[in-house]
Amino acid sequence: MQKGTIGVTTENIFPVIKKFLYSDHEIFLRELVSNAVDASQKIRTLANFGDFKGELGTLDVRVTIDKEAGTLTVSDHGIGMDAEDVDKYINQIAFSGAEDFLNKYKDNAANIIGHFGLGFYSAFMVAEKVVINSLSYKEGAKPVRWSCDGSPEYSMEEGDRTERGTDIILYIDKDSAEFLDQQRVDLLLRKYCRFLPVPVISGKEREWKDGNWVDTDRDLVVNATEPQWMKKPSELTDDDYRRFYQELYPGEEDPLFWIHLNVDYPFTLTGILYFPKIKNNFDINRNRIQLYCNQVYVTDSVEGVVPEFMQLMQGVIDSPDIPLNVSRSYLQADTAVKKISGYITKKVASRLDELFRADRKEFEKKWDDIRIFIVYGMLTDEKFCDAALKFLLLRDTEGQYFTTEEYKTLVEASQTDKEGKIVYLYATDAQAQYNYIKAANDKGYNVLLLDGQLDNHFVGLLEQKLKDTRLVRVDSDVIDNLIRRDDRRNTGLSAVQTAILSQLFSADTAKVDKASFTVQFEALGANAQPITLTQNEYMRRMKEMAALQPSMNFYGELPDSYSLVVNTEHPLVKDIVAKADTALLSSVEPLLQTIDSRNADAEAIRKAAPEGKTSAEEDARIADLEKEVAAARTEMADAISKYGKSEGADDVRQLVDLALLGNGLLKGQNLADFISRTVAMMQK
Ligand code: ADP
Repeated sequence: MQKGTIGVTTENIFPVIKKFLYSDHEIFLRELVSNAVDASQKIRTLANFGDFKGELGTLDVRVTIDKEAGTLTVSDHGIGMDAEDVDKYINQIAFSGAEDFLNKYKDNAANIIGHFGLGFYSAFMVAEKVVINSLSYKEGAKPVRWSCDGSPEYSMEEGDRTERGTDIILYIDKDSAEFLDQQRVDLLLRKYCRFLPVPVISGKEREWKDGNWVDTDRDLVVNATEPQWMKKPSELTDDDYRRFYQELYPGEEDPLFWIHLNVDYPFTLTGILYFPKIKNNFDINRNRIQLYCNQVYVTDSVEGVVPEFMQLMQGVIDSPDIPLNVSRSYLQADTAVKKISGYITKKVASRLDELFRADRKEFEKKWDDIRIFIVYGMLTDEKFCDAALKFLLLRDTEGQYFTTEEYKTLVEASQTDKEGKIVYLYATDAQAQYNYIKAANDKGYNVLLLDGQLDNHFVGLLEQKLKDTRLVRVDSDVIDNLIRRDDRRNTGLSAVQTAILSQLFSADTAKVDKASFTVQFEALGANAQPITLTQNEYMRRMKEMAALQPSMNFYGELPDSYSLVVNTEHPLVKDIVAKADTALLSSVEPLLQTIDSRNADAEAIRKAAPEGKTSAEEDARIADLEKEVAAARTEMADAISKYGKSEGADDVRQLVDLALLGNGLLKGQNLADFISRTVAMMQK
């Protein structure tokens, strides 16, 4: 019997393995089963090259639990090892500068495992003793039995194995007893070994008999040895892809489409990515892409490997070139990984482009489902954004789809303003903004529907990407102002009239909480609405952004700002003006004249004073004038206010309420008042 100490460095490795890998204990099973699978594949390769002439036999890997003995055994019929192999591969963990390395990385043991092939030693995370019982394929080889209880000492003697291959027997630690539970182990095998290329057997298939689950005599194979992604796309039908999807994500709705990845230069990568149906509520179900390394499951957290927005996708990526057991930050900095991520982005974009070109109608049908993915991608990945502009579809409120080019052609002639900018009108809620959409359509304008969750950001992006284009929400101004084609027309109101009407109209907006209103007069033609409530585009965008970004809190706290646009050419408004003239002009006009002339007098005194320095006498005179102005103002405001409260001004209130009502701003008492006033007016 040979006794020895496992390579110098392992003295440090054992505690590292035991302590630091605590959270990830279960991976020992992946490591041992993949070693067994490797050994099985190696013997097959040797046979293929004629270097092994014996019987191959069935090359499967078996995981057996013996509860009484407290062991978990991984057995294979692979190449096996002789004493020399065990010495070389197990006893001497061959790497230089290991101690330095361990010191440097002792807080991140996962790195060590991945880097230095300590896979086998991960058994010591869960076992107090590990035994290897192996017989090499080499002619005349003697079986070897190696045993180690976790201290750096091992023993090695002649073994008793008579069949080629290896048993790795783990005497499971008391605090790892979970790994003696068949169901737990089956679950792990299904997680990590589901697509390994050699059959992995774990116990027997079970069936329901006489009210109990009982073992049958059929072996339970946990894996599919030829996963679809390893096949050539030409060998697979659409149904194969759908079936595979169901295998990966049982019970989910069929995917919209998929991309089969297949590269071997400058890195190796295979996989199938699926576009799932994403519900509109943006359920980013992260971690749905599974990462494999030569068919061994590694992880389903792929951030770093695929661009963020692609985490909305599902499927499998398999690459031996992704450094697997390393930390996230390491992964993200890795150049191979960056290339892979770039490749996937390009591939996804070109597949989308291909689908778009191949069948536009079909693409349009799927568009609403994939839109959120594409918008997310465009917002977060510059390269994808540029590629996506070719197949990006814009949807109008009537449900027609346009590429950006097509849309430009559609609206360029009619929706270019006098500054030469093409104005894209959009709505975010076709129901709530119906009136505004209709007003735009009546003018012959098209309105886009941008009602997605990322669209407030997307609007900004479109403005950046589309040249000479401005996007405005359809309710952000009256239609004539949204696309200003010529100069504003004169409202026909005198200064006195403007003053009177401003006060009359704004008095009635005060009742709305958390909103500020300005009154604006426009000559919009007799056929346009008499009154329209608009919401400033800039302020609205700022507030929407603020809702998402705490740093912009300032904007979030400002009241909503609206404009009440009164159309001076509408007959109803003309009527209001005429009535107000009759009621107020004779009293207000002289007051306004007084105000103007007193102000002018005061100004004249200031101007006449040498170097702007007024004397005490002059100051007193100015103060008197200001008093007169203030008194006139109060008198004027009172007069207008009195009239405003009278029945004569009911139609002003009625119009303002209609505008508020049209925007869902009329509620409670205000709404009740409106209703009774309307009833009263109808009875006249
Ligand atoms: P890695 O698999 O990363 O090389 P391991 O520590 O898991 O590192 O294994 C070290 C070596 O031991 C393997 O490369 C292989 O040569 C040998 N080995 C491990 N398990 C087996 C097995 N079941 N059959 C044959 N050889 C094995």
